[in-house]
Amino acid sequence: ALEIHDVHKWYGSHRVLDGVDLTVRPGEVTVILGPSGSGKSTLLRVINHLEKPEIGYVSVNGELVGVRRQGDRLKELSERAILSQRSRIGFVFQNFNLFPHLTVLDNVAAAPVATGKLTKPEAQELARELLGRVGLGEKTGAYPRQLSGGQQQRVAIARALALRPGIILFDEPTSALDPELVGEVLAVIKDLATSGTTLVIVTHEIGFAREVADRVVFIDGGKVIEQGPPAQVLDHPRHERTRDFLSKVL
Ligand code: ATP
Ligand code: MG
Repeated sequence: ALEIHDVHKWYGSHRVLDGVDLTVRPGEVTVILGPSGSGKSTLLRVINHLEKPEIGYVSVNGELVGVRRQGDRLKELSERAILSQRSRIGFVFQNFNLFPHLTVLDNVAAAPVATGKLTKPEAQELARELLGRVGLGEKTGAYPRQLSGGQQQRVAIARALALRPGIILFDEPTSALDPELVGEVLAVIKDLATSGTTLVIVTHEIGFAREVADRVVFIDGGKVIEQGPPAQVLDHPRHERTRDFLSKVL
C-alpha cells in the first residue's frame, strides 16, 4: 500500500500541500482531481521523491519514503534508499519526456539496463513485449519525433512498466494530446487498471475517472476536500468546492 501521512509542503511562504492524508491499496486505481494550482503535481512529486515534504511522510509497502518528524529532527532517507524506492514507482508525465536520440525500443529498454536489473538483450526482449502490449509492436525502430503524441505517450507508459513498478503515477497523461489521440492512451491505462496495477492518476477526464477509478480524491488549496467511490464524489459531491469544480469541467 501507498500511505501518505499528514504531508505539508511549502515553497517559501506559499503553502502548497496542507496536511494531505491518503492511502492507496494494492491494485487500487485512484484518480486525483482538482483545480489548477491545487497541488496535484506536487503531491505526485512528493510520492516519487522529486520533492521533499517539510512535515509528514510517505510510505510504500511499509517502507518510509521522504522524511518524517522524529522529535524535533527530520530523519532523511539515504540517496541510495531514495533511488531504490524511485525505481519501484513509475511516473508518466504530461509531455512524455522520451529520450529523443534513442529508438522506441531503447527508450523502453534503457532503465532496466541502467539500474542493473536486466542485461541489454533481456531488456530489449521485455521492451518488445511491453511495446506489443501498448499496441506499438511495429514501431520499435522508430524515433520519438516520428510518432504521434498518442504513440509517444504509449511508449512512455511502456517505459514506466519496464521497471516493473509496484505503482504508476500519471500526471495529466492526456492533456497535451489532440482530442482524437486521447482515447488510445486512456485505453492503455484502462487495460493496466483492469489488470490490477496500482495506479494514481491526475486527470481532468471525468468520464474516464467514472469508468476506471476505485476512488476519486478531490484536492483544493493543498487539502483533500473529499474522497470516495466515483459514484459518490462525481455524482453526489458533498462539498460546495467539489460541486463548483465539477460544474466547470463537466
Ligand atoms: P495544474 O492543474 O495547473 O497542473 P497542480 O494542481 O498540479 O496544477 P502544482 O503544480 O502542484 O499544482 O502547484 C501548486 C502550487 O505550487 C502552484 O501555486 C504553483 O505555482 C506552486 N509551485 C509548484 N512548483 C513550484 C516551485 N518549484 N517553486 C515555487 N512554487 C511552485
Ligand atoms: Mg499539475
